Amino acid sequence: MTLKTSSLLLIFFFLAGLTTACKKQVSVLVVVGGHEYDTTEFFEAFHSLEDITYDSISQPDAMKLLASDQALDYDVLVFYDFIPDMDLKDSTVFLYLADRGQSMLFLHHSICTFQRWDGFADLVGGRYYMPEFGADSLLWSDYKHDIELEVNITDSNHPVTQGIEDFTIMDEGYSNVGYMSGIKPLLETDHPFCSPVNGWVNTYEQSTIVYLMLGHDRHAYSNEAFQKLLVNSIHWLSIKQTQ
Ligand SMILES: [Zn+2]
Repeated sequence: MTLKTSSLLLIFFFLAGLTTACKKQVSVLVVVGGHEYDTTEFFEAFHSLEDITYDSISQPDAMKLLASDQALDYDVLVFYDFIPDMDLKDSTVFLYLADRGQSMLFLHHSICTFQRWDGFADLVGGRYYMPEFGADSLLWSDYKHDIELEVNITDSNHPVTQGIEDFTIMDEGYSNVGYMSGIKPLLETDHPFCSPVNGWVNTYEQSTIVYLMLGHDRHAYSNEAFQKLLVNSIHWLSIKQTQ
């Protein structure tokens, strides 16, 4: 190796190191609890997400943290909890976060949380109607495990879907899901046991929201497209948070 080549290599490694050091890590709080899931595989998937660091907290403790200003220190809140009977007084927590413009990503069964408060459906952008909470039987949603969903990207120019082609995923489907007006659909499927729109963007008060219906178990967590959707959503939401 000549002196010139080795000098160039040194400069290259210096710049590469500088780029890595300057690359912003997005901080995420992952809220879980109230539903069984493949815990190890779920956090393994999160651990591998590029330029993302996370803390996790389980319900009901999560509500105390979310009610404090500490929650606003995170770039993005990720909800993977399932608390259908959440107390109506906790709506103030979500209203506070939305008023501050906190970005939030809701995954899979978190759409079932807060059945008693219509505002939660407005926040997430949709509702899974559980029979136990008095909705008209015509509205009841349903689920089916281990189905192969063909997912179509409806807007490939959106930052959340950037670099993702139409894909197939083994996952759980939710049917008869209610959609709130104003959502922007990003993912669609024509599977008979799944509602047609299974991923969208929403805004609520000052907050930007992403909902991904996908993510029941390890089959979904290990799906490359699902992982890319997580990375894209979190990075995009972190930018919306700072705007
Ligand atoms: Zn599930």
